[in-house]
Amino acid sequence: MSRIRVLAAAAAIASATVLTTSAVADSGEVNVYTYRETKLIQPLFDAFTKDSGIKVNVVSASSGLEQRMKAEGANSPADVLLTVDIGRIDEAVQAGVTQPIKSDVIDKIVPAQYRDPDGHWAGISMRARVIYASKDRVKQDTITYEDLADPKWKGKICIRSGQHIYNNALFAAYVARHGEAKAEEWLRGLKANLAQKPSGGDRETARDVAAGKCDLGIGNTYYWALMMNNDPDKKSWAEATRVILPTFAGDGTHVNLSGVLLAKNAPNRANGVKLIEWLASEKAQQLYADANYEYPVRAGVSVNPTIAGYGKLNADTLPIAKIAASRKAASTLVDKVGFDN
Ligand code: FE
Repeated sequence: MSRIRVLAAAAAIASATVLTTSAVADSGEVNVYTYRETKLIQPLFDAFTKDSGIKVNVVSASSGLEQRMKAEGANSPADVLLTVDIGRIDEAVQAGVTQPIKSDVIDKIVPAQYRDPDGHWAGISMRARVIYASKDRVKQDTITYEDLADPKWKGKICIRSGQHIYNNALFAAYVARHGEAKAEEWLRGLKANLAQKPSGGDRETARDVAAGKCDLGIGNTYYWALMMNNDPDKKSWAEATRVILPTFAGDGTHVNLSGVLLAKNAPNRANGVKLIEWLASEKAQQLYADANYEYPVRAGVSVNPTIAGYGKLNADTLPIAKIAASRKAASTLVDKVGFDN
């Protein structure tokens, strides 16, 4: 070890010891900052600890974790950041709080389209942005995203805000695939087909389809399963609808990621990488995908039966990094066409 590296390592140990009680460089611990609910992921961390002997310390929040990491700077105890959606993943990278994961295991298991070409993030599982179709009023089984702008759906579509990260990613995928001019035309067509001003969340979209306000709702795959299996109050919303997996014409269904990032100043970097690699293991993939009703990113791991009931997912082939690069353009177009007005 060079003199500078020894000093840097000593400084890292000193700062970690001073500023946190639990984070000691390369100890048997790993510190995870997560946007995912602790209830969902704690069983997973318990399994990791059992397998590895590494203790997992969790900081959970619904917002602001990148800002917190940024403010903590070189003294941040964070090793790993768990988050959902390419929007939030991208924001963490843009905030400069991550570093390349550099793992042959991850490179081998996670398909290239679900990894950052620069290595800063990797998908752990996937969710698709799909259609909750009225069981009574919609007879067709297939539909393309392009078709959603067809005037035949005038007044029949419900969707949450065009600026919400889930729609931003879908619209960014449209921009990345068809270009801004075509995407603008499509957004105008989609807006013209809306039954009401964009509002609520994906569950409320299902509610409105169930109530007859619209025939097609846009929502994520896991919400439908949660309503059907875990939320008696909302079960009827799922029961009134069925999930159609739309595709881009000639390609597949838009998917987004639940992803993992390695913190720039990870005091327990090696353990962080170990956890990330473990999350890609067969066991973890099964646990994680089942707990969240998501699609495992690792080939050969089975999907939850409710999710499998939607039909076989043929995921769109566009790399997620390409979609991320069109996020801003998609957001600008949403404002330009007055999508939410
Ligand atoms: Fe969600």
